[in-house]
Amino acid sequence: MNIHEHQAKAVLKEFGAPVADGVAIFSADEAAAAADKLPGPLWVVKSQIHAGGRGKGKFKEAEAGEKGGVRLAFSKEDVISNAAQMLGNTLVTHQTGPAGKQVNRLYIEDGADIKTELYLSLLVDRASGQPAFVASTEGGMDIEEVAESTPEKILTITIDPVAGVTDAVAESLCDALGLEGTAREDGIALSRILYKAFTEKDMDMLEVNPLIVMENERLRVLDAKMSFDGNALFRHPDIMELRDKTEEDEKEIEASEWDLAYIALEGTIGCMVNGAGLAMATMDIIKLYGEEPANFCDVGGGANAEKVAAAFKIIMKDPAVKGILVNIFGGIMKCDVIAEGVLQAVKETNLAVPLVVRLEGTNVEKGKEIIANSGLNVIPANDLDDAAQKIVAAVKGA
Ligand code: GDP
Ligand code: MG
Repeated sequence: MNIHEHQAKAVLKEFGAPVADGVAIFSADEAAAAADKLPGPLWVVKSQIHAGGRGKGKFKEAEAGEKGGVRLAFSKEDVISNAAQMLGNTLVTHQTGPAGKQVNRLYIEDGADIKTELYLSLLVDRASGQPAFVASTEGGMDIEEVAESTPEKILTITIDPVAGVTDAVAESLCDALGLEGTAREDGIALSRILYKAFTEKDMDMLEVNPLIVMENERLRVLDAKMSFDGNALFRHPDIMELRDKTEEDEKEIEASEWDLAYIALEGTIGCMVNGAGLAMATMDIIKLYGEEPANFCDVGGGANAEKVAAAFKIIMKDPAVKGILVNIFGGIMKCDVIAEGVLQAVKETNLAVPLVVRLEGTNVEKGKEIIANSGLNVIPANDLDDAAQKIVAAVKGA
């Protein structure tokens, strides 16, 4: 689960990290009061969406102007006019996809004088199986570019979870960030603060980009991105309260209520599968035959007819879906149960796009029979290869 920048900063503040004062607002009427609460003479007006790259982003609407999703304001009037331009409009960044995201809240922050912008994040490094700091002196808005062209400027420092952030770890981190003097003292303290927050709150990613050295040689967390391990959220009701469902795909929310794993993608073929491996194979073979998956919905090992029907309806809600491929291996789940669920859903949704069903496993003959005798327009397939070719042909023909 992701949260907004202003929420992430509030979490970090609890742990003692240096963050600026700021006020989150949801309507332009609140801008003046927010600006009054901060000292000036520099304010920063920041779009709160669950995506990075806001500074270099562009609004779709002309009235929002050309200035991007993070703006410096030099007077209260500036804060107010920028807030009015940005709220309610759609910001497109390299992380939002072309559709962009509507800006429903802003964070008005006390501006800082920046000397240097650094990059610092904490994540679980799968190669070493340990948490790790990722650090670079080249922080700011072009970190993707740095990763691409000069990856040697990005350093990884792994942390032994038993020992935690030792002096040696904290020192190498400060070396990697090129910190000296008071900024280095701040860096040593910050490394422990961030690691404590990361582990205690069960984060799977914490990114501070940029971490800044200010003109007064002190450090400040200028941007913060946080995501939490969904499997540990039950331990953190305070974090769960920060969930902003308007930032999530409505279909993904509905799927999570049914305990289904639904992932929205960019193509035209909806995929209903059971198991992550089967999902990957199904998507690969669709691509092999020249089409792209619109999504996949993993119904898991023990689904019943109702759950299959729910999955089907969720897939159908995506208007980009031009055809559906059901690829299910009946292991624990029986093929006749799946067939019943599919038919129930086809009837309830008045399915108007081609549907290819490939079943294999327990009670497969019974399942195929149910589909063949249903009188509904379902294209049966013998194997995965056959199924992929049939759905691609059907979608291309449509
Ligand atoms: P992102 O583009 O979504 O990563 O948003 P950031 O919060 O990282 O802000 C983008 C950029 O705006 C930063 O890299 C800074 O250059 C600039 N910026 C943000 N806050 C301040 C501030 O308080 N003072 C100054 N001078 N620049 C800021
Ligand atoms: Mg940033």
